[in-house]
Amino acid sequence: MTVFDALVGQDDVVQLLQSAVAGAVSGKGMTHAWLFTGPPGSGRSVAARAFAAALQCPDGGCGTCHECHTARSGAHPDVNLVVPQGLHLVIADAREIVAASFRAPTQGRWQITLIEDADRMEERTSNTLLKALEEPPPRGVFLLCAPTPEDLLPTIRSRCRQVTLRIPPYPAVAAHLEREGVDASIANWAARAAQGHVGRARRFAVDDEAKRRRREVLELPTHVSTVGGCFTAAANLVEAARDEARAITDALDEAETAAMREAVGDTVRTRGAARPRGAAAALSDLEKRQSSRAKRTQRDALDRALIDLAAFYRDVLVVQLEADVELVNVDLTRTIERIARATTPESTLRRIDAILACREAIDTNVAPLLAVEAMAVSLHAG
Ligand SMILES: [Zn+2]
Repeated sequence: MTVFDALVGQDDVVQLLQSAVAGAVSGKGMTHAWLFTGPPGSGRSVAARAFAAALQCPDGGCGTCHECHTARSGAHPDVNLVVPQGLHLVIADAREIVAASFRAPTQGRWQITLIEDADRMEERTSNTLLKALEEPPPRGVFLLCAPTPEDLLPTIRSRCRQVTLRIPPYPAVAAHLEREGVDASIANWAARAAQGHVGRARRFAVDDEAKRRRREVLELPTHVSTVGGCFTAAANLVEAARDEARAITDALDEAETAAMREAVGDTVRTRGAARPRGAAAALSDLEKRQSSRAKRTQRDALDRALIDLAAFYRDVLVVQLEADVELVNVDLTRTIERIARATTPESTLRRIDAILACREAIDTNVAPLLAVEAMAVSLHAG
């Protein structure tokens, strides 16, 4: 077993990282900045965390020792795991991150800074980081994760060695789930339904609520036959994304707020005593971060729903063109065939375009409900 077992269907990447670890150990030199890119669900941060563990582990990433465990979970004192919580990584955080990267490792071999969603750095933030990448500390290693290299400033990406992950093939995802104890037929279905997104496939396999939500999203095409139905369907889709996001963020918010109140002293019960000014600012800062995270989580959930929807129409197109390709949504074959018979390939293509346009609109901060309504009306028009 090694830490790299967690990477699904990424043999080339594993080879590259393992030889980098071997090179670092033998003193051949170490690249100080790495950029992990790949589509959502391909395992960018899984790969970066595994690499961090392998660099700190005395056995090059055994997967079982204390170094491996703590490096991967972010608890290792020499692995600074940065997970931007809001829509952006702000400059104050970047200054702290860079300062920490210059500390000498306390236990490990390297002082590792791992930034997930590095594409959420604002330009000013990027420039702060750039200075550290230009003259990296001698034991410092930066691991950045982003969907594509283009998501980062050219000045940043040109300083990084690039590690490119691919969408893992369905059989690799299914086999991975089976190793985790999922029944073979469910693993196969989940790998397809999630279109190779490892985390989603796992949720589809083990979480009934996630399965139910997917079914609900995929019922939308049958609800847009009337204009009135479009608006109801759009509202339902946006609300479902909000619910899904809340299920994730509510628990986080509560725990953070409780911890913060404890740290600054909850003055609600101590009548008359004013809360220290710094405490009020810290609480309001936390609330701002939480609201930004809620927005982002909801946007991500909606985007996943739209990807599912696009895959549904892709299946319709497969049937219409009698292409010799397996359907993504095999469990919905009958609905897909019915819609395929009732419409033309041209209209299916227009519908797929409408879904992609909706994703882009939401990405450029159009109000989600407006964007989804416009899409639903396009789906209705066909
Ligand atoms: Zn280890």
